[in-house]
This record gives sequence, structure tokens and C-alpha cells, in this order.
Amino acid sequence: MTIYPDFYCKKVTDINLEYLKKNNIQALILDVDNTLLDFNLNILEGLETWYKEIKANNIKCIILSNSNKIEKIKKVADLLQISFINFATKPLKRGFKKAQKELNIPNQNIAVVGDQIFTDVIGANRMKMHSILVEPIDKKDLLLTKIKRPLEEIIIKKYLKKQVNK
Ligand SMILES: [Mg+2]
Repeated sequence: MTIYPDFYCKKVTDINLEYLKKNNIQALILDVDNTLLDFNLNILEGLETWYKEIKANNIKCIILSNSNKIEKIKKVADLLQISFINFATKPLKRGFKKAQKELNIPNQNIAVVGDQIFTDVIGANRMKMHSILVEPIDKKDLLLTKIKRPLEEIIIKKYLKKQVNK
């Protein structure tokens, strides 16, 4: 198991079709907090436009969130008209398995997108799914996340160095 993402970019809307096609990705499992929504519950700018193109190219999406605040998750799920799984307990496999079943796409053709290495990336890697790490929309984090961030920064730096040396 690796702690490194397969791909690292600034935001979800930077993930383009060319990249997804090149990597045979047919479905996306999307995180919510700090990936699609900021702490003031603002939806990521350009999300709807980005999703229209994704949908038009038959790439399925589902939301997988560790949060239990259903109203908040529904705000995004309703906008994009996609389903969601809350209380996902990432990086445990349970939620990912549920999402995979609903998507009905093989694991290796699914990309998990999220802002945290310890939940989204490690979870995806454990499932042998493609992992895409995005920068958190908000730098202000919940306490537990805050503790993990410095460690994540070290891992990201190492990852970027590896990319350069490839
Ligand atoms: Mg998150």
C-alpha cells in the first residue's frame, strides 16, 4: 500500500477528460468537505460546468463523505443530481465498496478524488482504485485534520520530488 496519490492537482475542476481517458477512468468517487464545499458551504466555483462535461462523457460520479451532516452533502448531491454515501469511515474499505457496488464499475476504472491523504488517498490505494489528491479549498481545518496536515505536506513534497525525478 502506498501513501502517494496517482495524481495531484489544485482543484476538482482541473481534472480533465484527457487525463481520465488516458487512465481508463469511468467513474469518480468524490469527497465533499474541502473538495467540493468550503467551510462556509460555498460550492467550488465552476463545479456545475465541469460536471456537465464529465456527465456528457458518460463518467459516473458518486459522493463519499465521512461527514454525517446530510443537509450539507445533499446540497452538492442535489445540484449535480448524483447519489451520496455519508458516514463513509474512509479510509476503511466499507464505504468504498458500497460506492463501487452502486457505480458498478471495476475498481481499477474508478478514481477517488479528495483533499486528504489519510482518508481519501490511502482509502483509494487500499481499494486499488486510482487516487487523485486536490488542494483543500479552505486552509482553515477541523482540529483533527489540522494535526494531519504537516505530515501531508511532507508526503506531498516527497511526491512532487519523485515526479520531477521520474
Ligand atoms: Mg475532505
